[in-house]
Amino acid sequence: MTDPTFKPETIALHGGWRADPVTGSVAVPIYQTTSYQFRDTEHAENLFALKEFGNIYTRIMNPTNDVLEKRVAALEGGVAALALASGQAASALSVQNLARAGDNIVSSTDIYGGTWNLFANTFRDQGIEVRFVDPADPENFRRATDERTRAYYAETLPNPKLIAFPIAEVAAIGRPLGIPLIVDNTAAPILTRPFDHGAAVVVYSSTKYLGGHGTSIGGLVVDGGNFDWAAHKERQPTLNTPDPSYHGAVWTEAVKPLGPIAYIIKARVTLLRDLGAALSPFNAFLTLQGIETLPLRIARHSENANAVAAFLAKRPEVTRVIHPSQQKGLAKQRADKYLKGGYSGLVGFELAAGREAGRRFIDGLKLHYHVANIGDARSLAIHPATTTHSQLAASEQAAAGVTEGYVRLSVGIEHIDDIIADLEQALAAAGTR
Ligand code: PLP
Repeated sequence: MTDPTFKPETIALHGGWRADPVTGSVAVPIYQTTSYQFRDTEHAENLFALKEFGNIYTRIMNPTNDVLEKRVAALEGGVAALALASGQAASALSVQNLARAGDNIVSSTDIYGGTWNLFANTFRDQGIEVRFVDPADPENFRRATDERTRAYYAETLPNPKLIAFPIAEVAAIGRPLGIPLIVDNTAAPILTRPFDHGAAVVVYSSTKYLGGHGTSIGGLVVDGGNFDWAAHKERQPTLNTPDPSYHGAVWTEAVKPLGPIAYIIKARVTLLRDLGAALSPFNAFLTLQGIETLPLRIARHSENANAVAAFLAKRPEVTRVIHPSQQKGLAKQRADKYLKGGYSGLVGFELAAGREAGRRFIDGLKLHYHVANIGDARSLAIHPATTTHSQLAASEQAAAGVTEGYVRLSVGIEHIDDIIADLEQALAAAGTR
């Protein structure tokens, strides 16, 4: 059940579903099936010709995944979504749906390291050039644009810098040029709805806050339905020229009777069909369980992270706290413009005593888990200089906002006293020298 007037707390529990019409099941069933029986040959023919919507094969669609897609689309204020096997698959397909060999996109420099690798190396090998620009000045996106630029790409609240991205400013540069802004909103669900600020596509790693339980890798691409692809035929050829892989369909025309969903339908029936990064319905089910409590969790993550940032700011072992509550000037203005109701659960800080203190701090933690993940209900910590960023040269680490003593926390929803007590004893172990 998706009533557009529902608030996020209600959509999180009800979006895309109202009791199974056959069994009455209130919980969304796990449709653990590969394929679906066609009623007759005419039915099968219509499904393949996209004349009728319906299930064909779970690599491309599944009723459990369908509820997840509808729920996340509703939460975001978008028109439709595509669930995928991971956040990485979501980032990759969101771009590949528009850019082909010889094309380029312009991306913020401040993105997740895995996305950076995908863009800087794998896409380059596939002939898609990614031009990285500093998002501090939105005009950098315009400067890097040429006639083969197919999309802009950014993260709402990228770590480790935790500086909110100027969504409206960059979306407004792209729109008259026919260039959509794709926003990875993994770190800030509920707190920001990028479509409200002009983004055209939203990407998620549902592995993080959407799931929240740390059980399931997954991702989603959400179509805002708010971008006029047909008005920019030259700029967006993948959606405006005949697709030989689908009997010459021109997606903006073929999908028109179904609504403004050409982008997401094409991604499903060509890229997901061909590349096969399908989400298991079991993982979709688990992710739905997580989303039921997402609004409550994200509020508590934010509250606890504010308290952790304030605590760290007073500690002699800590030279700098990286968190929107501690920012000033433009960064703070952007955080307050784009994040409503909290700053999410990520906090960075620098230890005065550098690299070895970082190790001592992490090894001293008793409650926090030491993992390469964010967004769990549990509190998590990592020392990027010895893990996620260890392959980078010192200058590259610095450009990414990572110093030798940098520690990243993903503050969980435990009682704040227990979180702070654990940090306190690990800071004592880290020392000031
Ligand atoms: N986007 C962001 C912001 C992330 O933090 C991550 C993973 O850490 C991803 C995308 C990739 O998601 P996944 O690990 O689900 O493939």
